[in-house]
Amino acid sequence: MNQRKEILEKWTVDDSAELYGIRSWGNGYFDINDKGELVILANQGGKTVSASLLDVINGIMERGMNMPVLLRISNLLDSQIRLLHSSFRKAIKQSGYKGVYKGVYPIKVNQQQQVIEEIVRFGKEFHHGLEAGSKAELIAALGSMHDRKACIVCNGYKDAEFVDLVLYACKLGYQCIIVVEMIGELPLIIERSRELGIKPIIGLRMKLSTKASGLWTESGGDRSVFGLNSAELIDMVDLLRKENMLDCLRLLHYHIGSQISNIRDIRAAALEASRVYIGLVQEGAAMSFLDLGGGLAVDYDGSHTNYHQSRNYSLDEYCVDIIETVGETLSNNNVEHPTIITESGRATVAYSSVLLFNILDVTKFEPSCIPENLPDQTHELTKDLMGILQYINPKNLQECLNDAVYYRDELRVLFKNGRISLRERGLAENLFWHIMVMINKMVKKLKYVPEELEGLDAALADIYYGNFSVFQSLPDAWAIKQLFPIMPVHRLDERPERNAIISDITCDCDGKIENFVDLRIDRHTLPLHELRNSEEYYLAVFLVGAYQETLGDLHNLLGDTNVVSISISPTDGRFEINRELEGDSVGDVLSYVEYNPQALLESFKQNAERAVREKTITAAERKTIMNAFEDGLRGYTYFER
Ligand SMILES: *Cc1c(COP(=O)(O)O)cnc(C)c1O
Repeated sequence: MNQRKEILEKWTVDDSAELYGIRSWGNGYFDINDKGELVILANQGGKTVSASLLDVINGIMERGMNMPVLLRISNLLDSQIRLLHSSFRKAIKQSGYKGVYKGVYPIKVNQQQQVIEEIVRFGKEFHHGLEAGSKAELIAALGSMHDRKACIVCNGYKDAEFVDLVLYACKLGYQCIIVVEMIGELPLIIERSRELGIKPIIGLRMKLSTKASGLWTESGGDRSVFGLNSAELIDMVDLLRKENMLDCLRLLHYHIGSQISNIRDIRAAALEASRVYIGLVQEGAAMSFLDLGGGLAVDYDGSHTNYHQSRNYSLDEYCVDIIETVGETLSNNNVEHPTIITESGRATVAYSSVLLFNILDVTKFEPSCIPENLPDQTHELTKDLMGILQYINPKNLQECLNDAVYYRDELRVLFKNGRISLRERGLAENLFWHIMVMINKMVKKLKYVPEELEGLDAALADIYYGNFSVFQSLPDAWAIKQLFPIMPVHRLDERPERNAIISDITCDCDGKIENFVDLRIDRHTLPLHELRNSEEYYLAVFLVGAYQETLGDLHNLLGDTNVVSISISPTDGRFEINRELEGDSVGDVLSYVEYNPQALLESFKQNAERAVREKTITAAERKTIMNAFEDGLRGYTYFER
């Protein structure tokens, strides 16, 4: 397409949808309306309503809360739980499986009280339970769960206190299952159970030899740190038999890791576990649950492939593959079908949280104008640089790049030796960047991009400064290069004219995002709109509900963001704020790193008083200054307009 045609052709919201891939990664929860605003879609009983994210932002701001805000949308959490259960039910029906499905939500994936509360509330209909991996999580689970038909699965290292709590929970009527991760835990469980006179429901976690590929999948395989190998499984069975407690062994558990992107790994693990399950039944254990752990992946980039940021299967395929593998393997061995449990965390909560922030400033990459005619005494090499602008065309880009770099480097040497002026060096650098911009424009129209030209786009990108901290709100983007979809929430009916990377407001050079989702390429810049005077520009980061909130840290003392939970009415798409939680104040984060805000205030006050004494400031000025200090302590750690 030539440039004139590009400008004449109107940009539509469909172009934006395609560009940002929202219909690929959005799982049907996000789209763009006719006004060019990003909308959340809520679905109930076949009817879909939409709420504009810009309206939500304006509503939050009007109520007095500032960006950045972590938005939780309860409808999407509910939808994911419902989908999980309906998919398993469908698969069970379709393949004639004789057991049922029960899900548990692993608390570690997002421990926030509002999230757990919503999962328990909405999950009641399906007896959706919780998985706890530590004492604190168990206490949170026991205090939140009221459904006696839902399971509480206890993984993790266990001391006597942990074991006692589980046993008491059993006595109270909870379906609380204690999973043995290490052989040494079993004697403790037996002893505490004798002591308290309570019969436990025991599970055991096995090490599968099946190992999945991916970023987060180190939990599987023979070298995995958790679980029992087959020799230990047999020791455990023998010990339980000796203690006359083999009827307590009811559950087999495994977890081969998170974000398993290849369905083949899921099937292979289910098959191996089915064999072990059969073995335990044959040993005489009173087995009734098979718990396949987590691992159900999220398609972060929307590519539907086995790329580690994606998955090559649908939820329906996941359920069918598990149910069929387990069902067929057990039937062939005349073993009764167990209750299937999965511990899906990531897939349950990822969609329901969105990080919203405003753009504070932009550094543009734009070489300044070049003169039409070069001054008389211009050096030959500078003239050569200028010459490139005349002969550059899509067929000689590599050659032009080589020439430009050569001339520029030579001119730099001349400058160091005092042979050209600072002014001329400035002119030469400017010419050089002009050439780079031209090359970059032409590269975009090429089918095959020479390797050396690939990084050019990122080198020429604008920097958009976002009011957030990568370390606090998107730790995995920094730590393990996880991709999250990012896009503007408005102006999506306008062509985004700029190409940008995003920087946060920490002053750390790692505090930036320069990898973006794309179906085809490794994308290092994000198309964004030109900022408008006196108008906020808002971006949203999606699929941040899993793992990000508590992994985040206080780098640069930027604290927790404001959190707002909304639900969208299925009748008219109006949203309602259920809960709001103010983010950390400056005083809060200072106290986390062991300062005493009150002591800081007192000590600063002494400095101010001394200034009054020394007549550097007046008493009235002291008041103004102290007020500013106190406001600062109470204020939000992020940029406030
Ligand atoms: C982390 C974890 C999960 C959750 O895995 P997802 O891939 O997020 O679903 C489930 N079970 C155990 C034991 C875990 O450690």
